[in-house]
Amino acid sequence: MWVVPEKEIAGLMTPEAAFDAVERVFAAMASDDAYNFPVVREAIGYEDALYGFKGGFDRAGKTLGLKAGGYWPNNQKHGLINHQSTVFLFDPDTGRVAAAVGGNLLTALRTAAASAVSIKHLAPKGAKVLGMIGAGHQSAFQMRAAARTGTFEKVIGWNPHPEMLSRLADTAADLGLPFEAVELPRLGAEADVIISITSAFEPLLMDAHVEGSTHIAAMGTDTKGKQELDPALVGRARLFTDEVAQSVSIGEFQHAAAQKTISDSDVTAIGRVITGDHEGRGDAEVTIFDGTGVGLQDLAVAGAVVELAKQQGKAIEVEI
Ligand code: NAD
Repeated sequence: MWVVPEKEIAGLMTPEAAFDAVERVFAAMASDDAYNFPVVREAIGYEDALYGFKGGFDRAGKTLGLKAGGYWPNNQKHGLINHQSTVFLFDPDTGRVAAAVGGNLLTALRTAAASAVSIKHLAPKGAKVLGMIGAGHQSAFQMRAAARTGTFEKVIGWNPHPEMLSRLADTAADLGLPFEAVELPRLGAEADVIISITSAFEPLLMDAHVEGSTHIAAMGTDTKGKQELDPALVGRARLFTDEVAQSVSIGEFQHAAAQKTISDSDVTAIGRVITGDHEGRGDAEVTIFDGTGVGLQDLAVAGAVVELAKQQGKAIEVEI
């Protein structure tokens, strides 16, 4: 099997390649060429950690495997980021393990790529103001990937812990975009596109905050109980996701689904928009993409990285 260590990923994977891989696999999911396995995600009762597995099989891309890992909220004391994961790929012809790939940076890149894909396909025309809710590790990747869509002239941001906002200010400065910290009502009123990427368990962005034509990429909720958006806002928006079953069970739409204000048929897989099978935004005022994070995204970027690592002599071969 091949091992691609975490430290090699930054030199191998580009945000552009992650965007292409994720857009392709979302389209493959919509065409039934690829499917995700049921997610296992457990609060293990130790270190407040959430641990689990996300896997799938892409028949078209011949990629089989899983990502194992999760979220350890107290990792700062170990000098580590809170998200920790490894991707394992298997040979679909034989079942033999084919690769183990560091999954931390890949997760940030594939998650940011997912919201950027949603912005490409769903943002209102002429979107100029990007609103960021969240200032943790993922937020900088999210802002960078959104900026690559080329539409934004300004970033405004809010975070439940204001002392973390410097990450957003520094990232915007690096991108050459003006940044302003604002309260949520102003963020909801002024932003054309909003990305939420927090660990919240209660709604932060309320229905009354959001005015005018807006696209929201809700990226933080990937577990039962987490929540970033007011269900009333979900109730009046046109809804998209990476995978419908996941969004109504562990994603942002779990709450509106539980309250029965939406049903599965109100949620469209974004792959259908990518393949041209669904009109996308249409005449909707508010669109929401619920990025729950699917195993196939991880496998897509990991598969690309293994090929690059082999070509560049950065993959280590081991017998197991
Ligand atoms: P982080 O620990 O670096 O940052 C946490 C963020 O959430 C900060 O903005 C912090 O202020 C905020 N926060 C922390 N506790 C909160 C609370 N109780 N209420 C409201 N906000 C709170 O985390 P990160 O790596 O930036 O990840 C952010 C979130 O994104 C996590 O919930 C993570 O599970 C999720 N995530 C989702 C995907 C996906 O594919 N959808 C992928 C990776 C991470």
